[in-house]
Amino acid sequence: HVKERGRGDFRFYQSQMNVGLLSRMKIDHAMREALEEQRFRLFYQPQIDLYSGRLVGAEALVRWTDPSLGVMAPSDFISIAEETGFIVTLGGWVLREAIRQGELWQIQGIDLTMSVNVSAAQFHQLNFVESLAQWLTASRLPASRLELELTESILIQNVDETLIRLDALVDLGVRLAIDDFGTGYSSLAYLKRFPIHKLKIDRSFVQDIPDDESDAAISTAIINLAHSLNLKVIAEGVENDIQRRFLLDAGCDEFQGYLCSPPVDPDSFVQLVGALGLSDAPDPSPRIL
Ligand code: C2E
Ligand code: MG
Ligand code: MG
Ligand code: MG
Repeated sequence: HVKERGRGDFRFYQSQMNVGLLSRMKIDHAMREALEEQRFRLFYQPQIDLYSGRLVGAEALVRWTDPSLGVMAPSDFISIAEETGFIVTLGGWVLREAIRQGELWQIQGIDLTMSVNVSAAQFHQLNFVESLAQWLTASRLPASRLELELTESILIQNVDETLIRLDALVDLGVRLAIDDFGTGYSSLAYLKRFPIHKLKIDRSFVQDIPDDESDAAISTAIINLAHSLNLKVIAEGVENDIQRRFLLDAGCDEFQGYLCSPPVDPDSFVQLVGALGLSDAPDPSPRIL
């Protein structure tokens, strides 16, 4: 948008860029301070089994309110944290905190899959698998109840190295999901090569179903693709019952979205567990069709 507004006016464009750079440094500094001051929180969004309507998982989503900057959206600060490298530290905190919360819920008899977003820099960090292994060993959360959400862009960097790392994660027992599936640059070949358990249909495809015929076709195709490769499939961003019904009819396994609940704090999440009930056995093996 900056480019459009500043088209043909180099000075305007450049000054916008500088403001961008300045606020990036400011935000990076504020993030480091926020982590020290324990101002980051995790909210949890329920993941629902489409057939039973019961809860099967929770996606951990980071939240940050800065005393002077106000509520900061992950879409604003995660990309900055990725650029500055702070994401490695922040992502480590997110993983440990999600494991801690997942363990606490296990102890309380709330058996669900904890899904955690992982950034590229975090995933490709040398000791990523080792650190995770240590945190899981020290925790009573079964590795099989931790799911890592990876984006396609993670998978296409250093494919051979990535494959080794994914295998090591699967050896730990954790589950692997591809987030925002269908929006990245990757080829379908990696679905065959990589030990992935689940595809997450991106919200952009779910938004306009069933009216948008292309989106409906793409969503259906992803569901069928997942099942023919013995993968589970979850739809993101389900906001209304028409979308839910469409996905149910198309054979989708799970959904998350405002129709059920936005991401909420842990106490509110426990209330949702009470209201919705847990799926009897969040079965890690793929559904037989
Ligand atoms: P994502 O992983 O694809 O997460 C889904 C996003 O969609 C979340 O936004 C969630 O609040 C939002 N959402 C869920 N249901 C609906 C719905 O029905 N309608 C609409 N309009 N939106 C819905 P959020 O929390 O703002 O996070 C945005 C992105 O920031 C995430 O996308 C993820 O890529 C990133 N992110 C968030 N937390 C973390 C984190 O702890 N680590 C990393 N690496 N990335 C994170
Ligand atoms: Mg995600
Ligand atoms: Mg676990
Ligand atoms: Mg997503």
